[in-house]
Amino acid sequence: MIIASVVDLSAPVQYVKGVGPQRAEALAKVGVRTAEDLLLHLPMRYEDRRLLARIADLRPGMRAAVQGEIVAAGLRRGRRMTLFEIRLQDASGHLKALFFNQPYLADVLVRGRRVVLYGLVERDALRSRLLAMRSPQHEIAPGAAEEPGVHTGRVVAVYEKLGPLTAKPLRRILTGLAKRLPPQLEDPLPPEVRSRLGVVGRAEALRRVHVPAEDDDLDALNRFRAPGHVRLILEELLLFQIGLARRRLGRREERKGMAFEITDRTREAVKRILPFPLTSAQKRVLREIADDMRAPHPMNRLVQGDVGSGKTLVALLSMVVALENGGQAAFMAPTEILADQHFLTFRRLLRRCPYRVELLTSAVRGGEREDVLARIRSGEAQIAVGTHALIQEGVRFRHLGLAVIDEQHRFGVLQREDLRRKGYDADVLVMTATPIPRTLALTAYGELDVSLVDEKPPGRSSVRTVLRPASERREVVELVRREAAAGRQAFVVYPLVEETEKLEDVRAATEAAEEWASLLPGVRVGLLHGRMRTTEKEQVMADFSANAISVLVATTVIEVGVDVPNATVMVVEHAERFGLAQLHQLRGRVGRGQAPSTCVLLAHGRLSEEARARLDVMVRTEDGFAIAERDLEIRGPGDFFGTRQWGLPSFRVANLLRDRDLLEKARAEAFHLVAEHGSALPPPLPEFLDKGGWERRFGLARVG
Ligand code: ADP
Ligand code: MG
Repeated sequence: MIIASVVDLSAPVQYVKGVGPQRAEALAKVGVRTAEDLLLHLPMRYEDRRLLARIADLRPGMRAAVQGEIVAAGLRRGRRMTLFEIRLQDASGHLKALFFNQPYLADVLVRGRRVVLYGLVERDALRSRLLAMRSPQHEIAPGAAEEPGVHTGRVVAVYEKLGPLTAKPLRRILTGLAKRLPPQLEDPLPPEVRSRLGVVGRAEALRRVHVPAEDDDLDALNRFRAPGHVRLILEELLLFQIGLARRRLGRREERKGMAFEITDRTREAVKRILPFPLTSAQKRVLREIADDMRAPHPMNRLVQGDVGSGKTLVALLSMVVALENGGQAAFMAPTEILADQHFLTFRRLLRRCPYRVELLTSAVRGGEREDVLARIRSGEAQIAVGTHALIQEGVRFRHLGLAVIDEQHRFGVLQREDLRRKGYDADVLVMTATPIPRTLALTAYGELDVSLVDEKPPGRSSVRTVLRPASERREVVELVRREAAAGRQAFVVYPLVEETEKLEDVRAATEAAEEWASLLPGVRVGLLHGRMRTTEKEQVMADFSANAISVLVATTVIEVGVDVPNATVMVVEHAERFGLAQLHQLRGRVGRGQAPSTCVLLAHGRLSEEARARLDVMVRTEDGFAIAERDLEIRGPGDFFGTRQWGLPSFRVANLLRDRDLLEKARAEAFHLVAEHGSALPPPLPEFLDKGGWERRFGLARVG
């Protein structure tokens, strides 16, 4: 069965003309099983091969198509290589063409045949007056009455290799398939949606991306913004966003264990904790959270805000609301070190309150651990601080009302569903200190409500950032000495493998502290690392806060949670080893007071191009969102969240870096549709959405 005029896109790819069983088997290995899979392998770019040039007009460096008659042809077989050479002649002159290791061409490109060649024009290596093409695209010239060719004579699609199929056979197969698509091919988008979005039908789109129409603009094609591209990208993004919108709607219909009340007593409790007035952004976000907590359906909210915008405090106050209503709260940090830090902060801020805060990390062992677990189980402990293992392991809460997940992007997806699976009906607050580029926020976090803390607490100064080779440390030491002499303080940060601070890393930090102490006689230098006991850490931090220590040599322990407005210098050793998000976090530790601050990035050794790009971004801007956008560009969407690509859908046509504009459009349309029609979406949308499962379609189906 060869697919003829009526094409069923779910037909096995084997039946597409030109594929066959052997190639189909190889294609299956790269995930191409149906005709549709093949059609969604879009060209990587397009070339204009419409105009046939006269040979006399060719110049070296041009890409051109020429048509003529083969007036000479010869095959030479060397030991390692065969060389096939032809001479092509048109009315204006002649041209040489060379083909390597393609001896079979001798039977195709025979003398007397009229052909079209397309390729880069060069000077011939032997006779510089002669022009030549090496391995040009070639095609038998179409007769006067025939259609224009497949590989020449039009704007042609250029493909990346797909499994066993190289560019040229792919073009032949896809051109054939695309041309045979019937216009009445089923379209998942209802006519009303199509006309609102202003897009062409599905058949037309699939045809035009492979076989551009006469009036398709070459530049638009290459930017993936020709009508066919726009349609296919919007379709994919729309189906994805509809799924998110439906999930969100579904949550509105759920009921949670307890809706919280906010009474005067709660307000009093909150005020008692507040060490300073909230910024208006904090107030707004807190109100948004409080509204969610009062609602009968569960909260699923993402709080975004730059480093130092005061999210922790907002989270703490939200936890107090839960506590005042008799619930418990869990606070989950991405690493044990950060859990430690937050635990210390909460204990300090809550010291005048009757709440019991517990720390539960792997450092809490044996009988102590049993006691902590028992207090959480009985409800005696109100706040549990730990890593995300808090929920995943055998911790039982008596009455979990609120779960806060700090710095979500640092670890695997942990959302309301995970909590539900554990039998909790709690509100969920996800916080991220690294601003997430909007495209990712709309996809990875698309079903969450979003709050933005877009204002910094008053009295922050800007931070000057400089990049220096480690060999110029003298100047840096001088800066630190000057600041210390003026009564101000500095951080010196060493990179360590987080969570697994190894003994040799600790030794390196210890040696570094000794070295800085010897470089700065008379200046008090302290050391802080993750292997120290909680009481030791508390002591060092207290000394630093009280300015009894001027220079704190630390591991990334201090990345989050340290707040010493008197610190004006941040020195990052081996800055090249840190990611942008981390560097931004570290820099956020200074510039918290009135005095001007400096962040020094010390680079050790030669920088890779990527490392240089990263560090340059830090020097150029302080804007967390701009940094996040650049980070996304440098690393790509998958790596932005770390090596595990959790929570990010895999798109076949859409691209989060390129298609932000279309994503916004698709999202607006999706949420409009779901708001208007609820779960009774206009046909044939439901059928398409549920075919094969929405989650599986976007690679979001979870294991276990
Ligand atoms: P984030 O978690 O958003 O990076 P934090 O919650 O750690 O920021 O807050 C940064 C610092 O700013 C903290 O030390 C906190 O005490 C302080 N802070 C928070 N809110 C305010 C405010 N409204 N006024 C003054 N300082 C604030
Ligand atoms: Mg924080």
